[in-house]
Amino acid sequence: MAWGSMEDFEPCDDDFDFDDFVLFRQPGVNPNKKRKAEVHRDRSMVDVSGAIEYSFGVSVRLAQGRQKQKPDEQVAGLKYFLKVWRTELPWIKRRPTAGPFTHCGLCDYLKWQIGSCSDKGLRQKLQGILGEHFQFQAAQRVAMSQIFRESEEHPEDVLAVAWDKMDQAKTIVPRVVRLANTQFMKGGSRLVVSLIGVLAPALFKQPLVYTILEDQTHGGDMIASMMIDILQEAAAIRGELPSRLFIQADNTVKETKNTICLFAAAWLLAQLKGTRLQSIEFGYLVVGHTHDLIDAMFAYISKALAGRDFYSLEEMISILQRVMKSPPFWKHLRDVYAFKDAQPEKLSSKRVTGVTQPNNVRIFWGKDGSILVQSKQWLTSPDWGEAMVLVEQCDIQQLTQLYPDIVQPDWEEGFERRSAAWFKKLGDLLLCL
Ligand SMILES: [Zn+2]
Repeated sequence: MAWGSMEDFEPCDDDFDFDDFVLFRQPGVNPNKKRKAEVHRDRSMVDVSGAIEYSFGVSVRLAQGRQKQKPDEQVAGLKYFLKVWRTELPWIKRRPTAGPFTHCGLCDYLKWQIGSCSDKGLRQKLQGILGEHFQFQAAQRVAMSQIFRESEEHPEDVLAVAWDKMDQAKTIVPRVVRLANTQFMKGGSRLVVSLIGVLAPALFKQPLVYTILEDQTHGGDMIASMMIDILQEAAAIRGELPSRLFIQADNTVKETKNTICLFAAAWLLAQLKGTRLQSIEFGYLVVGHTHDLIDAMFAYISKALAGRDFYSLEEMISILQRVMKSPPFWKHLRDVYAFKDAQPEKLSSKRVTGVTQPNNVRIFWGKDGSILVQSKQWLTSPDWGEAMVLVEQCDIQQLTQLYPDIVQPDWEEGFERRSAAWFKKLGDLLLCL
């Protein structure tokens, strides 16, 4: 094994964590070598090589041979260490960082063009365009943060709420780490938990997570129902409604950016006529340029759950509440209302079009008692577009009399039977392990 000469070793300032390394220990340890690894249990090259020998059965001659020549505190530099790692132990993989974010198409296209461009002048021009694009997106994020700051300073004026749904592959119940990669576990009829992270700094300093299972409808109905729940929380916590509700959501048509949520917002305004609530506004960041606090929260959630077993939804949440520095509140979204089915044709996508384009939309009461809608292309656009009538004054009464039904929970055909049988098998299996 080519460890190189001693001259390659130099005192190392990098804080390499011995325990981190050992986490990736492969099975097939050599028990005869155990004592040696324990003998050298300080942070020296001798240790690490001892541990490697112990863990992987790789013959490392360095430890015994060179110990006499160099004092223990002298270890390999990071560069050399990584080179050795790459050459000798390529099968030891580091866990990839959590949260695969969706990329921005324009960024990826420009980077691709820059990478394949041989003309220096053109490349500089493209880099300039990419730089401007970054600056523009950063300005959107600053504008968004400004609204949240305003909400913390004046919660009676504006209640800013941000929400997003986590990648559900990470929150499937149960999880048994030892069995995670088996076909039995992967193919089992388990509970897919959708986790929606909510931040509303004017209401609570900790994050709030909503969970919802596959027995409930997702999409616009789910989001509209959550909107009602959040407003109820706001009224309960603050004792009054804000005059403006601002919602930052994922920039997708599937959930918030659609006419179902727009209808739900108009319905809420109509139901709450005469209260302080005067406008409901939606703001979106560009896909691939969000990297917001909710993304950070999801990374903490992934980290908290990594390598842990849980057998129920309650157990999964209790891990989050125990492990996370900022333990989340938890609500299971039980009441989902059928806004989609109750949507009047006048407020459906047949009449209301173009909702996917603007990144800032607000609906509010007009002076004549109608509900108006207005949009801006960007959060930073200086002026709102022309106000259009979303609900005419004569239709308001009808809107207030609409009561969307509760969506009854319903599992997919045969799911409960299959799931119960699978859980039974899992129980038997765990008894055998
Ligand atoms: Zn971009």
